[in-house]
Amino acid sequence: MKQERGKILEGIAASPGIGMGDAFCLQRRRHGIRRYHIEESDVEAELLRFDGGVVRAIENLNSIMKEIDSESSRNHYDILQAHTFMLEDPVLIDGTKKKISERRLNAEWALENTVRDLETMFFNRADETLQERVADLHQSTHHVFDQLLGVQSRLMSDIPENAVVIAENLSPSETTTFYRTRVAAIVLEKGGRASHVAIIAQSLGIPTVLGVPEALEIIRDGGRVIVDGGRGRVVVDPSDAQRERYEDRRKRRDSLAMELLDRKTAPAQTKDGTHILLGANLAALGKLANLDAFGADVVTLFRTEFMFIDRAQPPDEEEHYSCYRKLVEGAGGRPVTIRTQDLGGDKCPQYWPFADERNPLLGTRGVRTVQRHPEWMEQQVCAILRASALGPVRLLLPMITGVGELRELRELIARAKESLRKRGVAYDPDTPIGIMVETASAGIVADRLAAECDFFSIGTNDLVQYTLAVDRDSQELAYLYSPLHPAVLRLVDSICKAAKSQNIPVALCGEIGSDPLYTLLLIGAGIDEIGMGASNIPFIRGLIRESHRSEAEKLFADALDAHTVEDVRELVIPWMRSRFPRYFSD
Ligand code: PEP
Ligand code: MG
Repeated sequence: MKQERGKILEGIAASPGIGMGDAFCLQRRRHGIRRYHIEESDVEAELLRFDGGVVRAIENLNSIMKEIDSESSRNHYDILQAHTFMLEDPVLIDGTKKKISERRLNAEWALENTVRDLETMFFNRADETLQERVADLHQSTHHVFDQLLGVQSRLMSDIPENAVVIAENLSPSETTTFYRTRVAAIVLEKGGRASHVAIIAQSLGIPTVLGVPEALEIIRDGGRVIVDGGRGRVVVDPSDAQRERYEDRRKRRDSLAMELLDRKTAPAQTKDGTHILLGANLAALGKLANLDAFGADVVTLFRTEFMFIDRAQPPDEEEHYSCYRKLVEGAGGRPVTIRTQDLGGDKCPQYWPFADERNPLLGTRGVRTVQRHPEWMEQQVCAILRASALGPVRLLLPMITGVGELRELRELIARAKESLRKRGVAYDPDTPIGIMVETASAGIVADRLAAECDFFSIGTNDLVQYTLAVDRDSQELAYLYSPLHPAVLRLVDSICKAAKSQNIPVALCGEIGSDPLYTLLLIGAGIDEIGMGASNIPFIRGLIRESHRSEAEKLFADALDAHTVEDVRELVIPWMRSRFPRYFSD
């Protein structure tokens, strides 16, 4: 542990705001497994040690299951139960014991060996369900390894309120647990600017810094930490002076937020009369109250893939419907855009059948799953259409790459409508059908796509990734991942022009929507609606109300003229800072 007072760690600014609290270090098991042969006389003791590890692991799982009682965690409960069954499976347990007694391997080595045998056995069978069990096998034996190694790996459910969570990385489903437990801030060793951790943290308004190397080594569990999510800085064990400085900045930001919140019902309209719709991006129902609290006009994006994760099977039509009904009712008459699942990449459930892809971000993702599992999409589309009978709903398709794909999906939607009609179930036949423009190909053929859908939603998180060929999660390549790249700006420009030429609205739902630095560029490009983590809406509204569309158009035109990312940055950042100093004092 090499902690120093007031040390500043630099990382990627992933979700703005200043968070202070005590560090809660989520240490995963990082120790290597020691492998050694035991003496004949030690076999009995080693068998007892192994049994003890298994019993404690099962007890541990049972105690977590006891804590999970809410309806929404039912599937999590089922998964943990499957893990306990796995730890009672004679093939695993007896197989390991045999290796301890016959080959005299120490318990960890024997368990590791048995896991490897089972893995090979599962993969060699063409049976998908057996292959899916490999993930269960790893997760359940993880608990036994922890017990044997004496490492108590801490669980998400242990995190106290207002802690600063420090971890190597968090899965998207782990991050969604912060809908329940309020944390002060998040610091991860891994992750990039548009990773899903960043997106969820933004939607929850949790200050977050990602890509901080060795954070777990440097930050002491329980030690005081300040996280500056806007600048990408982490202050470890701050001095009194540092603490006061950050408190001061936080107060200034809070007072601007309070002032802007007072005007939350004022329209987001420029001084020369352009009205921009401001919407919330949501990934779960938990934060519907934020729509009123921050004055959202619409729900620009409801990400549904998290409903598919943390469970043993995909949701059926009724489960989908029950969720969308609550969403539409909770939105209180605001238009709601529901996106069909965008599974794949880093959002893969346990039953994911495409786990062996070499390059998941270029593999089966979003609407591409329809080839193997059309029923996932059919049931979801039926449920979204049913929700359209309850209030204004728009249906959004992710990961579209061309017109052929869009036509096939429109046929699927038409069949879903037909089946609802036959079943006598109500839906709005005019439910708008839009597409995410987030692949380079969709951007390039946007004129053709605009003629065959009702609205666009530009997903810059992926558009940047797929245009610049940079993994959006990569910490190493974060320096290349820039929405200000001239190629991205040109695409955004031609996408907006294509939408205008067909008279369809264009929304933007990537993370840049939350960042005031980009607001004028977006208005200048001709974006009609901007989606973001709801807590950012007052800032973006305030800024729009102080601006003119004419200056936004000039800024965007100048940015389009620039040749490099650096040129665009040097143009936009100082201009925004001097034009709107209050919004950038942080
Ligand atoms: C995007 O790609 O910009 C987007 C909003 O979708 P997601 O982040 O869920 O991929
Ligand atoms: Mg996307």
